[in-house]
Amino acid sequence: MTIRTLFTDRHGGESLPPYDTFNLAYHTGDLPEHVDRNRILLQRRIGSEHIAWMDQVHGDRIRIVESVEETTPPSCDALVTDRPGIALAVMVADCIPILLHDPVRGVIAAVHAGRNGTFLKVASKTAEAMGERFGSAMEDIRVTMGPSIHACCYEVGEEIGAIVRKNFGDAYMNDRSLNLQELNREMLLQSGITRRHIEISDICTCCNPNYFSYRRERTTGRSVGVVWIEK
Ligand SMILES: [Zn+2]
Repeated sequence: MTIRTLFTDRHGGESLPPYDTFNLAYHTGDLPEHVDRNRILLQRRIGSEHIAWMDQVHGDRIRIVESVEETTPPSCDALVTDRPGIALAVMVADCIPILLHDPVRGVIAAVHAGRNGTFLKVASKTAEAMGERFGSAMEDIRVTMGPSIHACCYEVGEEIGAIVRKNFGDAYMNDRSLNLQELNREMLLQSGITRRHIEISDICTCCNPNYFSYRRERTTGRSVGVVWIEK
């Protein structure tokens, strides 16, 4: 069994500015035919697997994917499956695309963790769902956080800062900047994930012009994190 992950950047697609070029989301205002084309290109890159998408709502609902569905994407912020051949995708432009996998039981998950999802502990709840539904042991689960907005660019309002300090402690706020990656890491550790099994990309999507950034551009595309079990 081989489990693979991929994080896209903004290059290699066919969308025009401000979605240039590899925009994979329809809800951005981009031309649907360009997104169609980019999704086909993505499918080719991962080897013509079926891709399961989400209608992401900044919540903590987790959906177990049991079959190849051609229906409307479910309203949720995490997908979990143990089925080979179904790739799970999470769309982002600054939010953290978090991919989890358990190489022992063969279970994978894709999580959308922005500020709200993080406050709701969506990533650690997903790890726990992998345990409850598929018997994954926390010490077997590997986590990768893809490119996302880092504290260098993530200044938040006073109210949000106060919420973070009150609920999670002072460690995640540096003056007015929120460190979303560290907050997610801490929650995953609390769930029993092993520290060395948590990998965090140091790419800041807002600093790095190779990525879509909602904070930098407002009207922009979405890149994806994808995880799949090869058939
Ligand atoms: Zn930055």
